[in-house]
Amino acid sequence: MKALVYHGPRDMRYEDVETPKPKKGEVLVKVKSVSICGSDLSGYKGGSAMRVAPLIMGHEFSGEIARLGEGVSGMKVGDRVGVVTNLYCGTCQDCKDGLQNVCDNRFIIGTTMKAGGYNGAMADYVVAPAVKIMPLPDSVSFDECALVEPLSISLRATKHAGELKGKNVAVFGAGPIGLMGVMCLKSFGAKRIIAIDIVENRLKMALQCGATDAINSNEDVLAITRKMTDGVGLDVVFDAAGVPATVNTGIEIARNGGTLLMVGMASPKIEIEYKHAVCKELRLQASYMYTAEMREGLQMIVDGKLNVRQMITSRYPISEGARIFEELASGKTSDIKVILAND
Ligand SMILES: [Zn+2]
Ligand SMILES: [Zn+2]
Repeated sequence: MKALVYHGPRDMRYEDVETPKPKKGEVLVKVKSVSICGSDLSGYKGGSAMRVAPLIMGHEFSGEIARLGEGVSGMKVGDRVGVVTNLYCGTCQDCKDGLQNVCDNRFIIGTTMKAGGYNGAMADYVVAPAVKIMPLPDSVSFDECALVEPLSISLRATKHAGELKGKNVAVFGAGPIGLMGVMCLKSFGAKRIIAIDIVENRLKMALQCGATDAINSNEDVLAITRKMTDGVGLDVVFDAAGVPATVNTGIEIARNGGTLLMVGMASPKIEIEYKHAVCKELRLQASYMYTAEMREGLQMIVDGKLNVRQMITSRYPISEGARIFEELASGKTSDIKVILAND
């Protein structure tokens, strides 16, 4: 089969590799649609321990069942499917406690983890355990299904916020995770949703995705949000960026007793206005990956509760992947979500 293989920093090649065979309890999925994640890009640039060459990336995808491994039942060749890509162990204490998102023994399709590497979906075919298969109704497209994994990240973070009905919230970073955060916050009943970003076309997209207001981070974010909330501040701040400026402005604009959702992690180390956060009695809540949220997110799409399709700004054949990765890494495009497809 053909696959887009990561050979090292800035070295991606579309080449022939052996087609994987599904082992007992596994299925072979013919990839239809795979989305490029920000984490794939930082891996491509050489900035991630989670992408060790040689590796086929791709953890946000959909396709059709092409072959069943031994002992697999309840599905058939040709079924349209999505795949839950977190292959947690299920036996460690974290897994037993419902924290499969942080299981130390997990594999993630398309990445390299402590447990090892697992080839992903930027290829003709990918292998997955049958228990990770999500049946895909005809009403949901392959492209939409490829966005369920990033949606699950935003959905989990939004659930961490608690009751949202009538609340004033802000979202830092109008990239895919922030935009899906906007959609989830809206769907959970938030009243005012203020998107904050430095890129104008992203702010435009945020408004299209359901944000009530958009603020360019070059403006006086504190003064504007104070005015918008009658001097009180935000109940919830969803930080999809995770850089010193967003975390500290987040602490600033959150109301006393408010919640700061820490989702983005662009900066691994951040000096924060710690005393200020304590004295405001803020709740600093981190959110990482997903547990049940992929299946829940797909159901939200099936139920028409959110429209993830609008975020897709480009679509190319997987065969052009090497060029697309280089273009995205150069930072010259204004794309929000790019799909690679096998049509
Ligand atoms: Zn991702
Ligand atoms: Zn585990």
